[in-house]
Amino acid sequence: MTEDGLPPLREVIERHGLAPKKSLGQNFLFDLNLTRRIARAAQPFAGFTIVEIGPGPGGLTRALLAEGAGRIIAVERDERALAALADIQAAYPGKLEVISGDALTVDWSTISGPAKIVANLPYNIGTPLLTGWLTGDAWPPWFKSLTLMFQKEVALRIVAKPGTEHFGRLSVLCQWRCTAHKLFDVNRSAFTPPPKVTSSIVQLVPLTPAIACDVKSLERLTAAAFGQRRKMLRASLRTVFDDPEVVLENLGIAPTKRAEELQINDFARLALAL
Ligand code: SAM
Repeated sequence: MTEDGLPPLREVIERHGLAPKKSLGQNFLFDLNLTRRIARAAQPFAGFTIVEIGPGPGGLTRALLAEGAGRIIAVERDERALAALADIQAAYPGKLEVISGDALTVDWSTISGPAKIVANLPYNIGTPLLTGWLTGDAWPPWFKSLTLMFQKEVALRIVAKPGTEHFGRLSVLCQWRCTAHKLFDVNRSAFTPPPKVTSSIVQLVPLTPAIACDVKSLERLTAAAFGQRRKMLRASLRTVFDDPEVVLENLGIAPTKRAEELQINDFARLALAL
């Protein structure tokens, strides 16, 4: 037994036949120090509903509860995990609600009250989930923060600054609507089974964009600009503007610049011109 009266995670996995499935991006965390560190990074919890994606056998869920989360809504696609999660519900009465289903199709508007999202995301759906949350029409959104595990390469793209190697569409979208920080790396060996690459915990906190524009326009604009990232903007933006050179000059942006040289606000100003 562990501190919370529940069996150790390795035993949970064995008892419930939770052999990790690659198709579901199942790389489980057993190290309590690590899961509690992730949970602490998302604190404070008072007054917040914590939304966890992919609780699996419940390592991070148990860490969140041990660190004081008062209400968790956990969305899990693997029905094999439901019995393990039921044991956690019994150990923490009234604190854990489990939604059995695909996080990509959940209607988040049903979440009431301020919420924080915390998750060791399945790698295959990490980016679509994040972009789904960040491209909602309502802003500020229903969540107050996102504390998420990604492959390190994705984490670097989320936080990349203009002019650097990883700067791209995801950096613009994330940093236009949020502050974004990489908190710490997690070695492959921390997972069972170990994934191929290092992971990182990233935290995003929604903000009011300095320049408001339509998010769909911003997406179209960045898709065009970074779709041909080595081209000058006067060429790459031809797919979205009749005369990109004039638009760029009107905004005081040199038409010879490349997408990676623009600031976040430049993209927002260009999106407004669409
Ligand atoms: N939270 C656990 C941990 O940290 O050890 C498991 C994390 S594991 C990387 C990802 C989890 O997401 C798995 O439990 C997997 O079954 C679940 N999952 C995969 N695809 C999902 C989806 N579309 N919707 C909800 N959960 C999903």
